[in-house]
Amino acid sequence: MTAATAADLLRELEARGAILNGHFRLSSGRHSNVFVQKFRLLEDPVLVERVARALADRARELTPEVVVSAAVGGIILGYETARQLGTLSIFVEKEQGVPTLRRGFALRAGQRALVVEDVVTTGGSVNEVLDVVRAHGAHVAGVGVIVRRAMVDFGVPTITLLDLPVDSFDPEQCPQCAAGEPITEPGSRFLR
Ligand SMILES: [Zn+2]
Repeated sequence: MTAATAADLLRELEARGAILNGHFRLSSGRHSNVFVQKFRLLEDPVLVERVARALADRARELTPEVVVSAAVGGIILGYETARQLGTLSIFVEKEQGVPTLRRGFALRAGQRALVVEDVVTTGGSVNEVLDVVRAHGAHVAGVGVIVRRAMVDFGVPTITLLDLPVDSFDPEQCPQCAAGEPITEPGSRFLR
């Protein structure tokens, strides 16, 4: 996506409540004025199609042969990206806490895998998928991300549709707490 369409995507995600401005307690315990509620995007097949097309258009030159994502949200994005690329879509899930391919999913040695993720914050989930892909002898052709909240370097070609760096604070140093603004717990029913 060009800068102009990244701005369009930001506006669209804000309008749908996928990007929320307020005062939030993140799962890390830190406070932030922006929260990404990714299922407000993933629940809309038309929007997923558009976002996945933007990823697929840029990923095509990486000549991926399979799309690999992480359960649960990644499955939706991976499926639609793969549909547009004309590849299979498989996903990594945890078995007794260990990321793995289940359900008969397989990767061939040297197969070119595109790893897709909806929102990258620490990069931990993507790195788990990269490890699984490489453990199967496949090749990571690249990573595709819709929203990147930190400048994580995966060491492979990375496509990002929207950079939205997270600005977070210790509760003791949070300017919004200091201003007495009430806090929202992400994931709560109040975000619906
Ligand atoms: Zn705060």
